[in-house]
Amino acid sequence: MKCITKDEIRDYASSCGIDLIGFAEPDCLVKYHDLLKERENNNYSCPIEEKNYEKRINPRLIMDNIRSIISIAVSYNVDYVHEKPQKGYGIISRTSWGTDYHAVLKNKMDKLGGFIKSRCPDVELKCLVDNNPLLERAIAYNAGIGFYGKNSMIINEEYGSYIFLGEILCSIYFEPDTPVESKCGECELCLKACPGQAIVEPFKINANRCLSFATINKGYLDDKTVIKMGRRIYGCDTCQKVCPYNKWAKKVSRPEFVPDKLKPKHDLTDILNMDNKKFKQVFGPTASSWRGKRTIIRNAIIACANTNEKNCINTLKKILYGDNSYLRGYSAWALSVIGGKELSKDIDEVLGKEGDERSKKMMIDALKKLKGDVFEDNTGRGI
Ligand code: SF4
Repeated sequence: MKCITKDEIRDYASSCGIDLIGFAEPDCLVKYHDLLKERENNNYSCPIEEKNYEKRINPRLIMDNIRSIISIAVSYNVDYVHEKPQKGYGIISRTSWGTDYHAVLKNKMDKLGGFIKSRCPDVELKCLVDNNPLLERAIAYNAGIGFYGKNSMIINEEYGSYIFLGEILCSIYFEPDTPVESKCGECELCLKACPGQAIVEPFKINANRCLSFATINKGYLDDKTVIKMGRRIYGCDTCQKVCPYNKWAKKVSRPEFVPDKLKPKHDLTDILNMDNKKFKQVFGPTASSWRGKRTIIRNAIIACANTNEKNCINTLKKILYGDNSYLRGYSAWALSVIGGKELSKDIDEVLGKEGDERSKKMMIDALKKLKGDVFEDNTGRGI
């Protein structure tokens, strides 16, 4: 007889605040090898993805005696109505509302793991939350957590797709659950709504076009992407917002995912003025801090330009004279978009001392734009 049953694990998981749980077999990811190859050949995979396919599909590289994967999901679809912003704001994705979900899920899985261990002392377990290259959505799909939406998100009929995923690798064998086939039907709302046209066809995403990736891309962004980013500071929820499954998804009361210091529509000047201490206070406890202050401020500069936020001009000027060359370049560009000719003097002054070639180029382009030597296509700006 088994030391623990699936039903006992399900019941305990629910008492820990885990909304969904399913079981998959360790080799369920092998079949994705060719898909990964196809994505890479099409340039659909983004630079932060693991290049070694084996690491993405073989959980035995993490635990050699694995016999099951327990997939869990926790809804972050909290019932929260945010205040109307008074000033220019940037948008924070729901994944970054409240406490960093990595810690919240780890805590719940540790509790569940403790319970399994209390019944099966010899079991080996490994809890994972987005800290490894395994294909977590594919695991969730194979464990019956939900179906694949055309936006490649995992959608559960009751909870929608606003769910965080986690996995427990386990040395005990459990009968795998049955995957659920897509229930999107004829719907293509997410394909039409995606501002980056990243859903190139149903179930196929070009991650390089996804604005969620753009907001965490630390490098220099191309002009078209910058315009499409609109007000986004971290992440993008558009393809999920339009999904009918999320419109009628169950709401949860989960205080840890209710926004605290970081607001869903956060004041742009507040972000632009952040020093390290403020960044730690506001962004530190959330899931959006991992790409660092510089990237978040860059996105706020872009949001100012995209929304013609003239109240930000003085703060942008401060950044232009500041100690970060990357941000100096971006602020020169933003000032040339929203400011007037009088700003040429400041940009010119900073350009004279600028040591970074890329920033210099941005400043020279900004000066040309202010002088009217360059026509900028602003189509789509201000979303
Ligand atoms: S918006 Fe429509 S097509 Fe896209 S995931 Fe939702 S149901 Fe599927």
